[in-house]
Amino acid sequence: MPEGHIIHRVAREQSADLKGQPVRVCSAQERFAEGADRLDGQVLTRTEAWGKHLFHRYEGGDILHVHLGLIGKWFRRSPEEAMQPTTRVRIAGSDAAWDLTGPMRCALVTPEERAAVVASLGPDPLRRGADPRRMADRLARSDKPVGLLLMDQAVVAGIGNVYRSEILNIVGIDPRRSGRDVSAEEVEAIWAEAVSQLRLGAHRGRIVTMPTSELPRPLARLEPGEGRYVYKQTHCGRCGTELDVYPLGGRTTWSCPTCQPR
Ligand SMILES: [Zn+2]
Repeated sequence: MPEGHIIHRVAREQSADLKGQPVRVCSAQERFAEGADRLDGQVLTRTEAWGKHLFHRYEGGDILHVHLGLIGKWFRRSPEEAMQPTTRVRIAGSDAAWDLTGPMRCALVTPEERAAVVASLGPDPLRRGADPRRMADRLARSDKPVGLLLMDQAVVAGIGNVYRSEILNIVGIDPRRSGRDVSAEEVEAIWAEAVSQLRLGAHRGRIVTMPTSELPRPLARLEPGEGRYVYKQTHCGRCGTELDVYPLGGRTTWSCPTCQPR
């Protein structure tokens, strides 16, 4: 599942391509045909990302809500290129078209519905002015494992399995430790690392958590999965210890018994 860094990157790129102009909106599927008709010809005034949620705002007041879910994807294409039959919606400007396939959600929403989605989310490390106190409060009040809490979008928005594994390794916390046993200093460290890692991910366009100096080869030549400390690794990228691998909330989790003692 794409984590928040991808949604923020897409919001930025779509804004650069489409904002401020009337867009052509169409769909290859019956499912969103009515919505596409309604948006067609409207001026896109704003794109915004909140965690894994993307909103487009249009001049007429309409709001499009997209959540990619597990298999959804955006593709940037030329406006002349034909749509694939799997395209739920195409939003095209003069120079680029953005095609959406397989989203968990693609719907027009009211301002109240948009506000309810935003209100349900914990702070998003990629939003300027995000307040980490809500995340700290939720962690402090829960017996659940911190590795599980960090993937709960109501605790912190935008983090999925890859980032929670990597961030907890970097700050040295075992994912099975309960939220209330994470100290205030450690919560601060988790937040700071989340902010810097998601920014790096949005910049690089992929989740590579190691700094350039630690990469085994240049970024452009990395194999899939390289440049990470624990996620889908066998040995810790920081100290070389063999990793513990176990399910947490139904998702495979990796942690280092040396860097993240229980
Ligand atoms: Zn280690």
